[in-house]
Amino acid sequence: MQIYKFGGASIKDTAGIKNVANIIQSYGTQNLLVVVSAIGKTTDKLQELTWAHVHGDDKKYHLLEEVKAFHYGIINELFTDHKNPIYNDIANTFVEVEWLLEEEAEDSSDYLYDQIVSIGELVSSKILAAYLNQIGCFTIWQDARNYIKTDNNYREANVEWDKTTQEIQKHLSAYLAQGIVLTQGFIGATSENFTSTLGREGSDYSAAIFCSALDAESMTIWKDVPGVLNADPKWFDETEKIPQLSYHDAIELTYYGATVIHPKTIKPIQNKSIPLYVRSFLNPLEKGTEISSSATTLPVPSFIFKVDQVLLSIFPKDFSFIIEENLSHIFAIFHKNKVKVNTMLNSAISFSVSIDDDEVKIEQLISDLSEDYKVKYNKNLELVTIRYYNQQTIDRVTVDKKVLLEVKSRNTCQMVMKDRIA
Ligand code: ASP
Ligand code: MG
Repeated sequence: MQIYKFGGASIKDTAGIKNVANIIQSYGTQNLLVVVSAIGKTTDKLQELTWAHVHGDDKKYHLLEEVKAFHYGIINELFTDHKNPIYNDIANTFVEVEWLLEEEAEDSSDYLYDQIVSIGELVSSKILAAYLNQIGCFTIWQDARNYIKTDNNYREANVEWDKTTQEIQKHLSAYLAQGIVLTQGFIGATSENFTSTLGREGSDYSAAIFCSALDAESMTIWKDVPGVLNADPKWFDETEKIPQLSYHDAIELTYYGATVIHPKTIKPIQNKSIPLYVRSFLNPLEKGTEISSSATTLPVPSFIFKVDQVLLSIFPKDFSFIIEENLSHIFAIFHKNKVKVNTMLNSAISFSVSIDDDEVKIEQLISDLSEDYKVKYNKNLELVTIRYYNQQTIDRVTVDKKVLLEVKSRNTCQMVMKDRIA
């Protein structure tokens, strides 16, 4: 059996949903598990709604109406028969959010976030499943919360692998034997049956979890790009498709910030040696990228850009060396503040890191560090990672830039830089 994952961009409107349905239908009648995200930018909207609710802002009602109107607009175009059960089903799903919004936001905001934001995937999957059935493509809808079991670290829940694998193997396999099964990415449930989410853009990871538990033949992520490219088209006019990629390169690229695949996706499928294909939903006949252990093609230099970086330089106040002892202390402070280090470099008496700019987190981090260290920082920087770099690729990205920090390993070069002011 195989797994297809469709993200929000692929089903962003009626035409998108029809196109995705076409791709699924042309797969045939063999067992297929389809994992979908919320429609378009729904998650962003629901996130805004959650914060409005948490802050007691009545804007929340308006935002919910917007989300509802957007979905009903699509449903009205897809279903000609207004008696189709999808109308009731969707209405009932939205009612659950309405109930939540009527209560005071007393629970933790992360918990509320997951209860509200998860609705995006529930409605998108219900709409797509109902549409597939309407066009004669028999599809069984399943609630991912019955399978993906997590702890209660809301918004970034950790998967409980044993329980999850057990549920999937015990119950989902039977449905798959009947044909196409469609479920949600991104969401799971705690042992108390509260909804949890796996972190933004986590649907790829969900698909990989199902893939691993089911020992799938392959997994395909359908994207709006022809495959894994050597740079995000957002930054480069000319990009190159990488036809084959090793798991190792895929994990490195996604770790450094290539957004084409969620970074947590590769490990579960690498562990089971399942090939991962990245293909275009705009050109479904085109071969995309194959990520597997057998990838043999020559490495292509790849570029990953991260903007809004902050370079922090940390100096022991007493001029002592940066050694294992204070490094472990510094990292403990980063860990406590949930700040991820994108790149780092140390010298005798200083330690520098590049991190994403998150004002709230950084303020607390600097305040904690300042108890023992002198901290200097520089904002509005850019971090470029080049995998399989050479001088030519470095020259290409450093035109009119001043490099503040450079870290090179055998295959990867990272530079933190800012615009050179003429
Ligand atoms: N809908 C969720 C998000 O936008 C999950 C996903 O798209 O993978 O973050
Ligand atoms: Mg998405």
